[in-house]
Amino acid sequence: MRKKYTVIRNVRLVDGTGAPAIENAVFVFFNGDTVSDDRLVYCGSAADYDPSVTADGEVFALDLSDSTYTILPGLINTHVHLSLELPYLPYYVDKFGDAYRAMVTYRRACEALLCGVTTLRGVGNADTSEIAVRNAINKGMFGGPRIITCGSALCPHAGHGHNTPRNVECSGADEFIRGLRGQLAQGVDQIKLMYTGGLEGAYEGTMDIQMTEEEVRACIQVAHNNSKRIAAHLSNDKAIAQAVRLGLDSVEHAYTLSDETCRMMAKKGTFLTPTLVVSHCNDYLKKHGSAEWHLRKQAAAAQEHIRSCRRAVQAGVTICTGTDLLPSDPIDGTTPTVRETELLVEDVGMTPLQAIRCATRNGAELCGVLAETGTLEPGKLGDFLIVEGRPDENIRDLRNLRLVSKGCRLVKSNLPAITKQNFNPMMAGVPCDGGTFRIW
Ligand SMILES: [Zn+2]
Repeated sequence: MRKKYTVIRNVRLVDGTGAPAIENAVFVFFNGDTVSDDRLVYCGSAADYDPSVTADGEVFALDLSDSTYTILPGLINTHVHLSLELPYLPYYVDKFGDAYRAMVTYRRACEALLCGVTTLRGVGNADTSEIAVRNAINKGMFGGPRIITCGSALCPHAGHGHNTPRNVECSGADEFIRGLRGQLAQGVDQIKLMYTGGLEGAYEGTMDIQMTEEEVRACIQVAHNNSKRIAAHLSNDKAIAQAVRLGLDSVEHAYTLSDETCRMMAKKGTFLTPTLVVSHCNDYLKKHGSAEWHLRKQAAAAQEHIRSCRRAVQAGVTICTGTDLLPSDPIDGTTPTVRETELLVEDVGMTPLQAIRCATRNGAELCGVLAETGTLEPGKLGDFLIVEGRPDENIRDLRNLRLVSKGCRLVKSNLPAITKQNFNPMMAGVPCDGGTFRIW
């Protein structure tokens, strides 16, 4: 079969590396016999484009001169719990059960993809549902985003996350090692610990350090000995400093963070996924019936959370974009993934280009998939979005999503030039993206 090339012209290009936009770009990809053949071919300026790159195939030309459009890499959300159940309760309740949870996990993964999240990292999804969904998508059984999964989170006995179904509760280094090895045997990509208290527990504070250094050291050693990155829910500076010193790879949340710890993170290459949206979602939490204690805690954390993130940016820490909240659930007129990038610009002070880099290239690096995706460069897999406007100048233009492609395959389009919908796991006419949290 002859190669099929798609050549998109009269479009702007933001490649995700942090480089400035190319105003008049040409974007070329090809589709081969199978999806694994598909690759980006050219992502650069019209002036430098050599049309002979498509000489060995058919060309589908797409001219986007009817408006201002920008192509950018698919978003990467590095802190997701697809089986999230809201509101948080002070006791354990499992509304889904294991088998049904796999269905909910898959549906929400699809919604994330339709909202522009082409890769997500699950940092604690009960039981093996997310692993099963990842495997089914990777085998081509179903469509869906790329999933990097930590399986079930390991949490201290009765500590943060004990009220979340099927987290693995442990006490003592031996139990943590046993729990971690159990996750490795299920085929997880990374490991997730619950190191400190958080906003989501009724009887715990963000300053509580719930795991011992001995437990954390043991987990990091076993994870690294098995070539896995290890992430931890970390609310406060003291615990973050301990964890970073011990060699943890990925810090989650960081409601408080000192300049000194930021410098250490930058030096060691520790990633930070601040999830700013979790302390900036009061209306969202109210809508989901959250308890008064949760609303109070998240409001109290908000200001220092932003200041901490600002320190991390100034120190040169690699920041990624994660949300805790479902990537597709409506919040403040958009989705949490887009809202997080807006907070990085509007509250933390990043440039829009920096924030886009966090949500694309940096996320791919943390997920270990930068060789295949995260930036738009020839040879990569073709996870990209088209938005109307100039998100590198006005971050809120990320709200104007017009097309989603995963692996050079059309997922969704509402461009006037492409009205065909290639992917919807629901019956025709059933909306898939966003807003369906409550009915499950
Ligand atoms: Zn989380």
